[in-house]
Amino acid sequence: MVSELFDLSGRVALVTGSSRGIGNVVATGLAEAGATVLLNGRDRQRVFDARDALRAAVPQATCEGVCFDVTDETAVAESVAEINARHGGIDILVNNAGFQHRESMFDLSVEDWETVLRTDLTSAFIVGRTVARGMVHRGNGKIINVCSVQTELARPSIAPYAAAKGALRNLTRAMTAEWAGHGLQINGIAPGYIATELTSTLVADPDFSDWVTGRTPAGRWGDTGDLVGPAVFLASDASSFVNGQVVFVDGGMTAVV
Ligand code: NDP
Repeated sequence: MVSELFDLSGRVALVTGSSRGIGNVVATGLAEAGATVLLNGRDRQRVFDARDALRAAVPQATCEGVCFDVTDETAVAESVAEINARHGGIDILVNNAGFQHRESMFDLSVEDWETVLRTDLTSAFIVGRTVARGMVHRGNGKIINVCSVQTELARPSIAPYAAAKGALRNLTRAMTAEWAGHGLQINGIAPGYIATELTSTLVADPDFSDWVTGRTPAGRWGDTGDLVGPAVFLASDASSFVNGQVVFVDGGMTAVV
């Protein structure tokens, strides 16, 4: 049955940065597909509010909040150990937490450069290998790294973000090289321009907003819901022989010049 391929019943999914935005909507989709979902973010109140909202939206789902900073190796190790003890392991990891700092390279401090790299790239290494140890031990697991159209394109004032997301695409391949032989599948999703808190100033700028619409062959901004199908596909048995790939969910932006 095709529907069984997408059934995530009995799987445990950790989605980093899921107190709002893309991560939250993807986490809700995974819960609707049957997964036990662990929501994450740094702000405890926002995580618990998101957990309560998900429980209300998907009453049959098991959903918990786990607050930690994805850049804090100790906090990640403690949180993953706690999740493993409570749930017997993590089957699906979505490395989604991320942020942008907009500034020209001449004005950008090295500290700000490093903060973006640590949040958008190093965190996937820290959380990824911490979770992957358990997956390798059990001989299976799915990791989805949330990349960006900026893995392929670059715009002014987001140099560290473009550098981090480009490297995250290749980290997806490196993880595949090391862990696919142990039964893990590591893939990426690269969203185009999606209206969230991250892009709120861009959405509010009519010139930029028109540029996005014109530059996207589909002729519109993306919606967080556009990411759900690809995420469930990559998290499920439906993608059983898909390894080291990045699915661009960008309305065609990276397909045309
Ligand atoms: P949002 O700003 O709406 O949400 C970001 C989430 O990440 C929040 O839950 C935030 O919670 C969490 N977060 C940020 N930093 C950390 C941290 N250090 N530790 C733990 N959690 C953290 O962003 P989006 O939903 O728009 O973006 C999600 C992902 O998608 C990012 O990786 C982004 O780069 C990528 N993306 C987004 C695009 C878009 O157009 N929106 C396009 C392409 C890629 P809190 O701050 O409370 O910790």
